[in-house]
Amino acid sequence: MVLPPRRLPRDDARMAVSEVPAVVIGGGVAGLAAAWELGARGVSATVLERAPRLGGLVESERTPEGALLEHGADGLLADKVGGFEVLAALGLDEAIVRGGRAPKRAFVTDGDALVEMPGGLFAFERRAMWTMMTSPLLSVGTKLGLLVEPLRGRPPADDETVSSFFSRRMGDEVARKLVAPMVQGVFGAAATDVGVRSVFPKLAAMERQYGSLGIALLIAKRAPRGHGLVTLGGGMESLPRALAEGGRARGARIETGKDVARLGQQGSMVRVELTDGSVLHTSRVILATGVSRAAELVAPLVPAAADVLGAIRASDAEVVSFVVPRAAIDHPLDGSGVVVAEDPARPRRTLACTFASEKWHGRAPEGTVVLRSVLRGAPELEIDELIAAAREELRVLIGLRAADGTTRVRRRRGALPVYAVAHQERVLRLNGALADDPRISVCGNYLRGVGVPDSVATGLEAARRAAPPA
Ligand SMILES: Cc1cc2nc3c(=O)[nH]c(=O)nc-3n(C[C@H](O)[C@H](O)[C@H](O)COP(=O)(O)OP(=O)(O)OC[C@H]3O[C@@H](n4cnc5c(N)ncnc54)[C@H](O)[C@@H]3O)c2cc1C
Repeated sequence: MVLPPRRLPRDDARMAVSEVPAVVIGGGVAGLAAAWELGARGVSATVLERAPRLGGLVESERTPEGALLEHGADGLLADKVGGFEVLAALGLDEAIVRGGRAPKRAFVTDGDALVEMPGGLFAFERRAMWTMMTSPLLSVGTKLGLLVEPLRGRPPADDETVSSFFSRRMGDEVARKLVAPMVQGVFGAAATDVGVRSVFPKLAAMERQYGSLGIALLIAKRAPRGHGLVTLGGGMESLPRALAEGGRARGARIETGKDVARLGQQGSMVRVELTDGSVLHTSRVILATGVSRAAELVAPLVPAAADVLGAIRASDAEVVSFVVPRAAIDHPLDGSGVVVAEDPARPRRTLACTFASEKWHGRAPEGTVVLRSVLRGAPELEIDELIAAAREELRVLIGLRAADGTTRVRRRRGALPVYAVAHQERVLRLNGALADDPRISVCGNYLRGVGVPDSVATGLEAARRAAPPA
Protein backbone atom coordinates (compact mmCIF):
# COMPACT_ATOMS: atom_id res chain seq x y z
CA MET A 1 0.00 0.00 0.00
CA VAL A 2 1.26 3.49 -0.80
CA LEU A 3 1.02 5.93 2.05
CA PRO A 4 0.92 9.66 1.33
CA PRO A 5 3.89 11.55 2.76
CA ARG A 6 3.37 12.24 6.46
CA ARG A 7 2.94 15.94 7.17
CA LEU A 8 4.95 17.02 10.18
CA PRO A 9 4.12 20.08 12.25
CA ARG A 10 5.64 23.12 10.58
CA ASP A 11 9.06 23.78 11.99
CA ASP A 12 8.75 27.38 11.02
CA ALA A 13 5.85 29.49 9.85
CA ARG A 14 6.88 29.49 6.17
CA MET A 15 7.93 25.91 5.54
CA ALA A 16 5.81 22.88 4.75
CA VAL A 17 7.71 19.89 6.15
CA SER A 18 7.02 16.27 5.24
CA GLU A 19 8.70 13.00 6.14
CA VAL A 20 9.15 10.52 3.27
CA PRO A 21 10.91 7.13 3.01
CA ALA A 22 13.31 8.12 0.20
CA VAL A 23 14.09 11.15 -1.94
CA VAL A 24 15.58 10.94 -5.43
CA ILE A 25 16.93 14.26 -6.66
CA GLY A 26 16.82 14.43 -10.47
CA GLY A 27 14.37 12.88 -12.91
CA GLY A 28 16.71 11.81 -15.71
CA VAL A 29 16.95 8.13 -16.61
CA ALA A 30 19.26 7.40 -13.66
CA GLY A 31 16.94 8.94 -11.05
CA LEU A 32 13.83 7.40 -12.56
CA ALA A 33 15.49 3.97 -12.69
CA ALA A 34 16.41 4.39 -9.02
CA ALA A 35 12.82 5.21 -8.06
CA TRP A 36 11.52 2.29 -10.13
CA GLU A 37 13.92 -0.14 -8.42
CA LEU A 38 13.19 1.31 -4.96
CA GLY A 39 9.53 0.57 -5.65
CA ALA A 40 10.40 -3.04 -6.41
CA ARG A 41 12.01 -3.15 -2.96
CA GLY A 42 8.92 -1.83 -1.24
CA VAL A 43 10.23 1.72 -0.78
CA SER A 44 8.09 4.54 -2.16
CA ALA A 45 10.42 7.21 -3.48
CA THR A 46 9.73 10.89 -3.92
CA VAL A 47 11.44 12.06 -7.12
CA LEU A 48 12.15 15.78 -7.35
CA GLU A 49 12.95 17.08 -10.83
CA ARG A 50 13.86 20.71 -11.31
CA ALA A 51 12.79 20.98 -14.97
CA PRO A 52 9.18 21.08 -16.15
CA ARG A 53 9.70 17.70 -17.85
CA LEU A 54 11.24 14.35 -16.95
CA GLY A 55 14.03 12.64 -18.88
CA GLY A 56 16.94 15.08 -18.44
CA LEU A 57 19.32 14.56 -21.35
CA VAL A 58 16.90 12.16 -23.02
CA GLU A 59 14.42 14.37 -24.86
CA SER A 60 12.41 13.60 -27.99
CA GLU A 61 10.09 15.86 -29.97
CA ARG A 62 7.55 15.17 -32.70
CA THR A 63 7.52 18.26 -34.96
CA PRO A 64 4.42 19.65 -36.70
CA GLU A 65 5.53 18.10 -40.02
CA GLY A 66 5.77 14.68 -38.33
CA ALA A 67 9.53 14.35 -37.89
CA LEU A 68 10.90 12.80 -34.72
CA LEU A 69 13.82 14.72 -33.21
CA GLU A 70 16.19 13.60 -30.48
CA HIS A 71 17.61 16.52 -28.51
CA GLY A 72 19.91 14.25 -26.50
CA ALA A 73 20.59 10.53 -26.73
CA ASP A 74 19.42 9.13 -30.07
CA GLY A 75 20.13 5.45 -29.44
CA LEU A 76 21.47 3.06 -26.84
CA LEU A 77 23.85 0.14 -26.68
CA ALA A 78 21.22 -2.21 -25.36
CA ASP A 79 23.37 -5.28 -24.81
CA LYS A 80 24.86 -3.56 -21.76
CA VAL A 81 23.54 -3.88 -18.22
CA GLY A 82 20.62 -1.43 -18.06
CA GLY A 83 19.73 -2.16 -21.70
CA PHE A 84 17.57 -4.95 -23.16
CA GLU A 85 16.64 -6.38 -19.79
CA VAL A 86 15.27 -3.08 -18.54
CA LEU A 87 13.50 -2.35 -21.85
CA ALA A 88 11.83 -5.76 -21.65
CA ALA A 89 10.79 -5.29 -18.02
CA LEU A 90 9.18 -1.98 -19.00
CA GLY A 91 7.34 -3.53 -21.95
CA LEU A 92 9.36 -1.55 -24.46
CA ASP A 93 10.59 -4.54 -26.52
CA GLU A 94 7.97 -3.85 -29.18
CA ALA A 95 9.25 -0.31 -29.54
CA ILE A 96 12.84 -1.33 -30.31
CA VAL A 97 14.08 -0.10 -33.70
CA ARG A 98 17.28 -1.51 -35.19
CA GLY A 99 18.83 0.65 -37.84
CA GLY A 100 17.46 2.52 -40.78
CA ARG A 101 17.81 2.70 -44.53
CA ALA A 102 21.48 3.76 -44.50
CA PRO A 103 24.24 1.14 -44.41
CA LYS A 104 25.74 0.64 -40.94
CA ARG A 105 28.76 2.82 -41.37
CA ALA A 106 29.89 6.28 -40.33
CA PHE A 107 32.02 8.92 -41.99
CA VAL A 108 34.89 10.99 -40.73
CA THR A 109 36.06 14.25 -42.26
CA ASP A 110 39.32 14.46 -44.14
CA GLY A 111 39.65 18.14 -45.00
CA ASP A 112 36.26 19.04 -46.50
CA ALA A 113 35.61 15.47 -47.68
CA LEU A 114 33.69 12.70 -45.92
CA VAL A 115 35.53 9.37 -45.88
CA GLU A 116 34.17 6.08 -44.57
CA MET A 117 35.35 5.42 -41.02
CA PRO A 118 37.09 2.03 -40.84
CA GLY A 119 34.54 -0.03 -38.94
CA GLY A 120 34.73 -2.46 -36.05
CA LEU A 121 37.54 -1.03 -33.93
CA PHE A 122 35.45 0.32 -31.08
CA ALA A 123 33.04 -2.63 -31.16
CA PHE A 124 35.96 -5.12 -30.95
CA GLU A 125 35.09 -6.76 -34.24
CA ARG A 126 37.46 -9.02 -36.14
CA ARG A 127 37.10 -6.94 -39.28
CA ALA A 128 38.68 -3.91 -37.58
CA MET A 129 42.26 -4.66 -38.69
CA TRP A 130 41.12 -5.30 -42.25
CA THR A 131 39.03 -2.11 -42.48
CA MET A 132 42.02 -0.08 -41.27
CA MET A 133 44.43 -1.81 -43.67
CA THR A 134 42.17 -0.92 -46.61
CA SER A 135 41.15 2.58 -45.53
CA PRO A 136 42.24 5.49 -47.75
CA LEU A 137 42.51 7.58 -44.58
CA LEU A 138 45.69 5.87 -43.39
CA SER A 139 49.15 6.09 -44.96
CA VAL A 140 51.20 3.10 -46.06
CA GLY A 141 53.58 3.74 -43.15
CA THR A 142 50.73 3.45 -40.63
CA LYS A 143 49.48 0.26 -42.29
CA LEU A 144 52.95 -1.30 -42.15
CA GLY A 145 53.04 -0.31 -38.48
CA LEU A 146 49.73 -2.13 -37.91
CA LEU A 147 51.33 -5.32 -39.24
CA VAL A 148 53.99 -5.19 -36.54
CA GLU A 149 51.60 -4.04 -33.81
CA PRO A 150 52.01 -7.32 -31.87
CA LEU A 151 55.71 -6.51 -31.47
CA ARG A 152 55.10 -3.18 -29.75
CA GLY A 153 55.84 -2.84 -26.04
CA ARG A 154 53.85 -3.93 -23.03
CA PRO A 155 51.18 -1.62 -21.55
CA PRO A 156 52.08 0.81 -18.77
CA ALA A 157 51.12 -0.19 -15.24
CA ASP A 158 48.69 2.69 -14.86
CA ASP A 159 45.86 4.18 -16.88
CA GLU A 160 46.79 6.46 -19.78
CA THR A 161 44.91 8.70 -22.21
CA VAL A 162 43.01 7.17 -25.11
CA SER A 163 45.22 9.15 -27.41
CA SER A 164 48.47 7.77 -26.00
CA PHE A 165 47.05 4.22 -25.95
CA PHE A 166 46.22 4.24 -29.67
CA SER A 167 49.38 6.16 -30.64
CA ARG A 168 51.47 3.63 -28.78
CA ARG A 169 49.76 0.57 -30.28
CA MET A 170 48.63 1.66 -33.72
CA GLY A 171 50.46 4.84 -34.54
CA ASP A 172 49.83 8.54 -34.27
CA GLU A 173 47.76 8.67 -37.46
CA VAL A 174 45.17 6.18 -36.14
CA ALA A 175 44.95 8.15 -32.89
CA ARG A 176 44.57 11.49 -34.69
CA LYS A 177 42.42 10.63 -37.70
CA LEU A 178 40.13 7.90 -36.37
CA VAL A 179 40.12 7.83 -32.62
CA ALA A 180 40.20 11.54 -31.73
CA PRO A 181 37.15 12.54 -33.84
CA MET A 182 35.16 9.54 -32.63
CA VAL A 183 35.92 10.23 -28.97
CA GLN A 184 35.19 13.93 -29.35
CA GLY A 185 31.93 13.20 -31.17
CA VAL A 186 30.65 10.60 -28.73
CA PHE A 187 32.11 11.63 -25.38
CA GLY A 188 32.35 15.39 -25.94
CA ALA A 189 35.98 15.35 -24.77
CA ALA A 190 39.42 15.26 -26.35
CA ALA A 191 41.11 11.86 -26.71
CA THR A 192 44.08 13.50 -24.98
CA ASP A 193 41.88 14.15 -21.91
CA VAL A 194 40.09 10.83 -21.37
CA GLY A 195 41.46 7.66 -19.81
CA VAL A 196 41.45 4.45 -21.84
CA ARG A 197 40.58 2.18 -18.92
CA SER A 198 37.28 4.01 -18.37
CA VAL A 199 36.33 4.79 -21.94
CA PHE A 200 37.52 1.62 -23.69
CA PRO A 201 37.96 -0.82 -20.81
CA LYS A 202 37.66 -3.83 -23.09
CA LEU A 203 40.40 -2.68 -25.46
CA ALA A 204 42.71 -1.85 -22.55
CA ALA A 205 42.01 -5.28 -21.03
CA MET A 206 42.64 -6.97 -24.38
CA GLU A 207 46.08 -5.40 -24.56
CA ARG A 208 46.89 -6.53 -21.03
CA GLN A 209 45.68 -10.08 -21.77
CA TYR A 210 47.12 -10.65 -25.25
CA GLY A 211 49.89 -8.07 -25.45
CA SER A 212 48.45 -7.03 -28.80
CA LEU A 213 45.20 -5.46 -30.00
CA GLY A 214 45.57 -6.97 -33.47
CA ILE A 215 45.82 -10.51 -32.10
CA ALA A 216 43.02 -9.92 -29.61
CA LEU A 217 40.74 -8.60 -32.37
CA LEU A 218 41.54 -11.56 -34.62
CA ILE A 219 40.70 -14.16 -32.01
CA ALA A 220 37.83 -12.22 -30.48
CA LYS A 221 34.39 -13.78 -30.73
CA ARG A 222 32.61 -12.44 -33.79
CA ALA A 223 30.29 -9.70 -32.52
CA PRO A 224 26.95 -9.46 -34.30
CA ARG A 225 27.38 -6.20 -36.22
CA GLY A 226 25.42 -3.32 -34.74
CA HIS A 227 23.29 -5.84 -32.85
CA GLY A 228 23.15 -3.90 -29.62
CA LEU A 229 22.71 -0.38 -30.97
CA VAL A 230 19.00 0.35 -31.02
CA THR A 231 16.55 3.18 -30.59
CA LEU A 232 12.89 3.37 -29.59
CA GLY A 233 10.11 3.87 -32.11
CA GLY A 234 8.31 6.59 -30.19
CA GLY A 235 11.62 8.31 -29.47
CA MET A 236 14.18 7.74 -26.74
CA GLU A 237 11.98 9.65 -24.32
CA SER A 238 9.71 6.58 -24.23
CA LEU A 239 12.30 5.15 -21.81
CA PRO A 240 12.09 7.80 -19.06
CA ARG A 241 8.31 7.93 -19.60
CA ALA A 242 8.03 4.17 -19.06
CA LEU A 243 10.38 4.30 -16.06
CA ALA A 244 8.25 7.05 -14.53
CA GLU A 245 5.04 5.17 -15.21
CA GLY A 246 6.53 1.96 -13.81
CA GLY A 247 7.85 3.86 -10.79
CA ARG A 248 4.45 5.43 -10.07
CA ALA A 249 2.82 2.02 -10.34
CA ARG A 250 5.25 0.88 -7.63
CA GLY A 251 4.39 3.76 -5.36
CA ALA A 252 6.78 6.54 -6.38
CA ARG A 253 5.68 10.15 -6.24
CA ILE A 254 7.32 11.92 -9.17
CA GLU A 255 7.20 15.68 -9.35
CA THR A 256 8.54 18.19 -11.86
CA GLY A 257 9.34 21.84 -11.22
CA LYS A 258 10.90 20.90 -7.87
CA ASP A 259 14.38 22.32 -7.48
CA VAL A 260 16.44 21.10 -4.54
CA ALA A 261 18.40 23.98 -3.06
CA ARG A 262 20.39 22.21 -0.35
CA LEU A 263 20.73 19.19 1.90
CA GLY A 264 21.42 19.25 5.62
CA GLN A 265 21.27 17.23 8.83
CA GLN A 266 18.01 16.73 10.67
CA GLY A 267 18.92 14.57 13.64
CA SER A 268 19.63 11.16 12.18
CA MET A 269 17.75 12.08 9.00
CA VAL A 270 18.58 14.19 5.96
CA ARG A 271 16.84 17.49 5.48
CA VAL A 272 16.03 18.27 1.81
CA GLU A 273 15.27 21.94 1.20
CA LEU A 274 13.58 23.01 -2.02
CA THR A 275 13.78 26.44 -3.59
CA ASP A 276 10.00 26.81 -3.15
CA GLY A 277 10.50 26.75 0.62
CA SER A 278 9.21 23.24 1.25
CA VAL A 279 11.29 20.73 3.21
CA LEU A 280 11.41 16.93 3.26
CA HIS A 281 12.95 14.78 5.93
CA THR A 282 14.13 11.35 4.88
CA SER A 283 16.52 8.58 5.81
CA ARG A 284 17.58 7.89 2.18
CA VAL A 285 18.66 10.34 -0.50
CA ILE A 286 19.72 9.35 -3.99
CA LEU A 287 21.49 12.12 -5.85
CA ALA A 288 20.70 11.72 -9.55
CA THR A 289 21.69 15.15 -10.86
CA GLY A 290 24.65 15.95 -13.08
CA VAL A 291 28.04 15.68 -11.43
CA SER A 292 28.65 19.33 -10.50
CA ARG A 293 25.23 19.76 -8.84
CA ALA A 294 25.76 16.47 -7.00
CA ALA A 295 29.06 17.85 -5.65
CA GLU A 296 27.35 21.00 -4.34
CA LEU A 297 24.43 19.15 -2.78
CA VAL A 298 26.47 16.47 -1.02
CA ALA A 299 29.05 18.92 0.40
CA PRO A 300 27.35 19.67 3.75
CA LEU A 301 26.86 15.94 4.48
CA VAL A 302 29.90 14.13 3.06
CA PRO A 303 32.58 16.71 2.20
CA ALA A 304 35.03 14.02 1.05
CA ALA A 305 32.52 12.85 -1.57
CA ALA A 306 32.01 16.45 -2.67
CA ASP A 307 35.78 16.81 -3.18
CA VAL A 308 35.87 13.81 -5.51
CA LEU A 309 32.76 14.85 -7.43
CA GLY A 310 33.96 18.45 -7.69
CA ALA A 311 37.12 17.28 -9.44
CA ILE A 312 35.16 15.63 -12.29
CA ARG A 313 34.83 18.09 -15.16
CA ALA A 314 31.81 18.04 -17.46
CA SER A 315 31.67 19.49 -20.95
CA ASP A 316 29.01 21.62 -22.65
CA ALA A 317 27.32 20.68 -25.90
CA GLU A 318 25.09 22.57 -28.34
CA VAL A 319 22.57 20.36 -30.13
CA VAL A 320 21.10 21.72 -33.38
CA SER A 321 18.49 19.72 -35.30
CA PHE A 322 17.23 20.41 -38.81
CA VAL A 323 14.31 19.00 -40.78
CA VAL A 324 14.99 19.77 -44.45
CA PRO A 325 13.81 18.57 -47.87
CA ARG A 326 15.89 15.62 -49.13
CA ALA A 327 16.46 17.53 -52.36
CA ALA A 328 18.30 20.26 -50.47
CA ILE A 329 21.30 18.02 -49.66
CA ASP A 330 23.90 16.94 -52.22
CA HIS A 331 25.48 14.09 -50.22
CA PRO A 332 23.93 10.61 -50.64
CA LEU A 333 23.69 10.31 -46.82
CA ASP A 334 24.60 6.64 -47.15
CA GLY A 335 25.75 6.22 -43.55
CA SER A 336 24.63 7.03 -40.02
CA GLY A 337 26.48 10.34 -39.85
CA VAL A 338 29.85 12.01 -39.66
CA VAL A 339 32.34 12.80 -36.93
CA VAL A 340 34.56 15.81 -37.50
CA ALA A 341 38.34 15.50 -37.28
CA GLU A 342 40.21 18.45 -35.87
CA ASP A 343 41.91 20.35 -38.66
CA PRO A 344 43.89 23.49 -37.84
CA ALA A 345 43.34 24.73 -41.40
CA ARG A 346 39.56 24.41 -40.98
CA PRO A 347 38.58 25.15 -37.36
CA ARG A 348 35.01 23.86 -36.96
CA ARG A 349 32.45 24.02 -34.18
CA THR A 350 30.63 20.85 -35.22
CA LEU A 351 31.82 17.70 -33.49
CA ALA A 352 29.44 15.28 -35.17
CA CYS A 353 26.31 15.23 -37.28
CA THR A 354 23.87 12.31 -37.21
CA PHE A 355 21.84 11.65 -40.37
CA ALA A 356 19.03 10.66 -38.03
CA SER A 357 16.39 9.87 -40.65
CA GLU A 358 18.85 7.57 -42.46
CA LYS A 359 20.31 5.97 -39.34
CA TRP A 360 16.87 5.03 -37.93
CA HIS A 361 13.56 4.07 -39.48
CA GLY A 362 10.56 6.28 -38.87
CA ARG A 363 12.23 9.60 -38.14
CA ALA A 364 11.06 11.81 -41.02
CA PRO A 365 8.15 12.06 -43.45
CA GLU A 366 8.88 10.94 -47.03
CA GLY A 367 11.02 13.44 -48.93
CA THR A 368 12.51 15.04 -45.81
CA VAL A 369 15.65 14.45 -43.79
CA VAL A 370 16.43 14.93 -40.09
CA LEU A 371 19.98 16.03 -39.30
CA ARG A 372 21.26 16.42 -35.76
CA SER A 373 24.52 18.32 -35.23
CA VAL A 374 26.37 18.41 -31.93
CA LEU A 375 28.66 21.41 -31.58
CA ARG A 376 31.27 22.12 -28.93
CA GLY A 377 29.90 24.41 -26.20
CA ALA A 378 29.76 28.00 -27.49
CA PRO A 379 28.14 30.15 -24.78
CA GLU A 380 29.41 33.24 -26.57
CA LEU A 381 27.08 32.62 -29.53
CA GLU A 382 23.44 33.65 -29.70
CA ILE A 383 21.04 30.96 -30.87
CA ASP A 384 20.75 32.34 -34.42
CA GLU A 385 24.56 32.51 -34.67
CA LEU A 386 24.77 28.91 -33.51
CA ILE A 387 22.26 27.80 -36.13
CA ALA A 388 24.10 29.75 -38.82
CA ALA A 389 27.43 28.14 -37.84
CA ALA A 390 25.93 24.63 -37.86
CA ARG A 391 24.24 25.26 -41.20
CA GLU A 392 27.35 26.69 -42.84
CA GLU A 393 29.49 23.74 -41.74
CA LEU A 394 26.89 21.31 -43.10
CA ARG A 395 26.85 23.25 -46.36
CA VAL A 396 30.57 22.57 -46.77
CA LEU A 397 30.44 18.95 -45.58
CA ILE A 398 27.25 17.56 -47.10
CA GLY A 399 26.09 20.31 -49.44
CA LEU A 400 23.12 21.42 -47.33
CA ARG A 401 21.36 24.18 -49.30
CA ALA A 402 18.04 24.70 -47.52
CA ALA A 403 17.68 27.82 -45.41
CA ASP A 404 14.19 27.04 -44.17
CA GLY A 405 12.55 24.05 -42.49
CA THR A 406 12.21 23.27 -38.79
CA THR A 407 15.25 24.00 -36.66
CA ARG A 408 15.65 23.31 -32.96
CA VAL A 409 18.45 24.06 -30.52
CA ARG A 410 19.23 22.67 -27.09
CA ARG A 411 22.12 24.11 -25.11
CA ARG A 412 23.40 21.46 -22.73
CA ARG A 413 25.58 22.87 -19.96
CA GLY A 414 27.84 20.47 -18.06
CA ALA A 415 26.15 17.61 -19.90
CA LEU A 416 28.86 15.05 -20.40
CA PRO A 417 31.36 14.19 -17.67
CA VAL A 418 34.95 13.82 -18.76
CA TYR A 419 36.33 10.39 -17.79
CA ALA A 420 39.86 11.58 -17.17
CA VAL A 421 42.85 9.28 -16.64
CA ALA A 422 42.37 7.20 -13.48
CA HIS A 423 38.65 7.99 -13.33
CA GLN A 424 37.97 4.54 -11.91
CA GLU A 425 40.15 5.30 -8.89
CA ARG A 426 38.14 8.48 -8.40
CA VAL A 427 34.91 6.45 -8.37
CA LEU A 428 36.44 4.06 -5.83
CA ARG A 429 37.37 7.03 -3.63
CA LEU A 430 33.83 8.34 -3.98
CA ASN A 431 32.37 5.00 -2.91
CA GLY A 432 34.81 4.92 0.01
CA ALA A 433 33.69 8.38 1.14
CA LEU A 434 30.01 7.46 0.85
CA ALA A 435 30.50 4.22 2.76
CA ASP A 436 30.55 6.37 5.91
CA ASP A 437 27.02 7.65 5.28
CA PRO A 438 24.57 4.96 4.13
CA ARG A 439 21.81 7.60 3.89
CA ILE A 440 23.39 9.04 0.73
CA SER A 441 23.76 7.32 -2.64
CA VAL A 442 24.69 8.74 -6.03
CA CYS A 443 23.88 7.72 -9.58
CA GLY A 444 24.30 9.16 -13.02
CA ASN A 445 26.43 9.36 -16.11
CA TYR A 446 29.74 10.01 -14.31
CA LEU A 447 30.11 6.58 -12.69
CA ARG A 448 30.08 3.69 -15.19
CA GLY A 449 29.92 5.43 -18.56
CA VAL A 450 28.11 8.33 -20.23
CA GLY A 451 25.55 6.24 -22.11
CA VAL A 452 21.91 5.72 -21.22
CA PRO A 453 22.20 2.02 -20.19
CA ASP A 454 25.16 2.80 -17.93
CA SER A 455 23.23 5.69 -16.36
CA VAL A 456 20.19 3.45 -15.83
CA ALA A 457 22.42 0.75 -14.30
CA THR A 458 23.79 3.23 -11.76
CA GLY A 459 20.23 4.15 -10.78
CA LEU A 460 19.43 0.49 -10.13
CA GLU A 461 22.64 0.09 -8.12
CA ALA A 462 21.94 3.20 -6.04
CA ALA A 463 18.49 1.85 -5.18
CA ARG A 464 19.96 -1.48 -4.10
CA ARG A 465 22.40 0.35 -1.84
CA ALA A 466 19.66 2.57 -0.42
CA ALA A 467 17.30 -0.34 0.19
CA PRO A 468 19.28 -3.54 0.65
CA PRO A 469 17.31 -6.75 1.10
CA ALA A 470 16.19 -7.17 4.73
C1 LIG B 1 23.94 15.62 -27.15
C2 LIG B 1 23.97 14.32 -26.42
C3 LIG B 1 23.86 13.13 -27.12
C4 LIG B 1 23.86 11.91 -26.45
N1 LIG B 1 23.72 10.77 -27.15
C5 LIG B 1 23.65 9.59 -26.51
C6 LIG B 1 23.33 8.40 -27.24
O1 LIG B 1 23.08 8.42 -28.44
N2 LIG B 1 23.29 7.23 -26.53
C7 LIG B 1 23.49 7.18 -25.19
O2 LIG B 1 23.42 6.08 -24.61
N3 LIG B 1 23.76 8.30 -24.47
C8 LIG B 1 23.82 9.50 -25.11
N4 LIG B 1 24.05 10.64 -24.39
C9 LIG B 1 24.30 10.56 -22.95
C10 LIG B 1 23.03 10.29 -22.11
O3 LIG B 1 21.90 10.89 -22.71
C11 LIG B 1 23.19 10.86 -20.71
O4 LIG B 1 24.46 10.63 -20.18
C12 LIG B 1 22.14 10.25 -19.76
O5 LIG B 1 20.85 10.44 -20.29
C13 LIG B 1 22.31 10.88 -18.38
O6 LIG B 1 21.23 10.54 -17.56
P1 LIG B 1 21.23 10.99 -16.03
O7 LIG B 1 19.92 10.62 -15.49
O8 LIG B 1 22.46 10.48 -15.39
O9 LIG B 1 21.42 12.58 -16.05
P2 LIG B 1 20.52 13.75 -16.64
O10 LIG B 1 19.78 13.31 -17.83
O11 LIG B 1 21.43 14.92 -16.75
O12 LIG B 1 19.44 14.00 -15.49
C14 LIG B 1 19.73 14.75 -14.34
C15 LIG B 1 18.45 15.46 -13.93
O13 LIG B 1 18.64 16.11 -12.67
C16 LIG B 1 17.90 17.31 -12.70
N5 LIG B 1 18.43 18.20 -11.65
C17 LIG B 1 19.65 18.80 -11.61
N6 LIG B 1 19.77 19.52 -10.48
C18 LIG B 1 18.61 19.38 -9.79
C19 LIG B 1 18.15 19.87 -8.54
N7 LIG B 1 18.91 20.70 -7.78
N8 LIG B 1 16.89 19.53 -8.12
C20 LIG B 1 16.12 18.72 -8.87
N9 LIG B 1 16.52 18.21 -10.07
C21 LIG B 1 17.75 18.54 -10.53
C22 LIG B 1 18.13 17.83 -14.10
O14 LIG B 1 17.14 18.80 -14.45
C23 LIG B 1 18.05 16.54 -14.91
O15 LIG B 1 16.74 16.29 -15.39
C24 LIG B 1 24.03 11.88 -25.04
C25 LIG B 1 24.14 13.08 -24.33
C26 LIG B 1 24.11 14.28 -24.99
C27 LIG B 1 24.21 15.56 -24.22
